[in-house]
Amino acid sequence: MNYLSTRGDPSRNDPPRGFSDILLEGLAPDGGLYLPESYPQIDGATLTRWRGLNYADLAYEILSLYITDIPAEDLRALVRKTYTPAIFGTAEITPLKPLDRAASAASGTDVFLQALSNGPTLAFKDMAMQLLGNLFEYELARRGEVLNILGATSGDTGSAAEYAMRGKQGVKVFMLSPNGRMSPFQQAQMFSLQDANIHNIAVDGVFDDCQDIVKAVSNDLEFKRQHRIGTVNSINWARLLAQVVYYFAGYLQATTSNRQQVSFAVPSGNFGNICAGHVARMMGLPIRRLVLATNENNVLDEFFRTGTYRVRGSAETHETSSPSMDISKASNFERFVFDLLGRDAARTKQLFKTEVEQHGSFTVSADEFAHIASFGFISGTSTHADRLATIRDTHRRFGVVIDTHTADGLKVAREYLDPGVPMLVLETALPAKFAETIVEAIGVQPDRPAAMRGIEDLPKRYVVMPVDTQAVKVYLSHHV
Ligand SMILES: *Cc1c(COP(=O)(O)O)cnc(C)c1O
Repeated sequence: MNYLSTRGDPSRNDPPRGFSDILLEGLAPDGGLYLPESYPQIDGATLTRWRGLNYADLAYEILSLYITDIPAEDLRALVRKTYTPAIFGTAEITPLKPLDRAASAASGTDVFLQALSNGPTLAFKDMAMQLLGNLFEYELARRGEVLNILGATSGDTGSAAEYAMRGKQGVKVFMLSPNGRMSPFQQAQMFSLQDANIHNIAVDGVFDDCQDIVKAVSNDLEFKRQHRIGTVNSINWARLLAQVVYYFAGYLQATTSNRQQVSFAVPSGNFGNICAGHVARMMGLPIRRLVLATNENNVLDEFFRTGTYRVRGSAETHETSSPSMDISKASNFERFVFDLLGRDAARTKQLFKTEVEQHGSFTVSADEFAHIASFGFISGTSTHADRLATIRDTHRRFGVVIDTHTADGLKVAREYLDPGVPMLVLETALPAKFAETIVEAIGVQPDRPAAMRGIEDLPKRYVVMPVDTQAVKVYLSHHV
């Protein structure tokens, strides 16, 4: 399997790139995002055979269609090491929890939560990041190279990256976070890591300052090359691919026959999670709808309702109680648009490079807009009041406490139920991570997994730095 760029020029005859070539890269050199040349098609016989597999072996089957440059036995060992009950809490890895049952629900529809958040950092990003850690270690050893990951975080991504890379050979992590601005729980999660290859840098500024420093360091190409600096951001194809697996796992748990369809509702920010659902559907998984849920930062809902994609300025980006969805532009969205436009890379480039960069927005044509329905997408928005009401209602009726992001997904899911088609709402975090809003909704503290109790009291390992790119560079050059 080879990969192409969403902005690639087919007439340039670039050398083909395999999975291992793009694994350690971010954007393609032309500024586009990588996608496979085609989506492998899964027929009924294959899907039936997969019904008997455990999660790791299902992951192997799917990944091996896209990763043809790692020997089969090595790939199988990597996924088996990643998707274990010891790391993800249950034998199913992403078990379904029933909420409404069709027999009693007014809609005649089963509604399930699909639990994606039982990994080490209690958010779905572990599903992909844990695999990425093992893939990076494997590929770097194979090449005899090392990599220093530089990132900025306000919470979920940074901790998922640190827990995935801790103790890994050939990899170091340098994670910038705004000093004193993360929740005590999030800070304790990251700063309590004692592994020598994990460096927490608390910057005396806000998240944007951290991100600006990362950009400034990355723009110094000579420094970046010399110190082997890389990233693990959400546009990485390997992360997206790892997420495709749980759409299959959810489908196989919710159905007994391949003639049945299901829908998925996905709390969305950068469009990484739901883009994996799009890939699963393109492979032939019988998905009726992909329900995209946003919070008050409704860039994507606006697109799916109107055909206009308009990125927001920082002043227009709301700080909400589902903070991992607080985005001003959706960094993976270009992948879907490329498919929507019949994989026309020139037109994709025109929209995302010329129009977004010059005018901050683009609008697809009426024909292109009409085509969206055939991809199964539909969308909605949820507000703080909706989150509180949904958390309260779910607790009262089912005795289940859900987190704020999952609440956004469930709220919008209920607007698009089809009788007889199970709705799987992706649970993207555990409520323990967002305790303040849970207390606001139901008046009690959410449960914390045993391993996370009292982590605020553990010794912390971090350095504090001013908002100063040069100081960060000096630190990097002493510690890489
Ligand atoms: C990252 C994140 C999201 C958004 O996922 P995208 O892939 O960016 O769309 C939603 N919920 C939680 C808890 C997250 O951490």
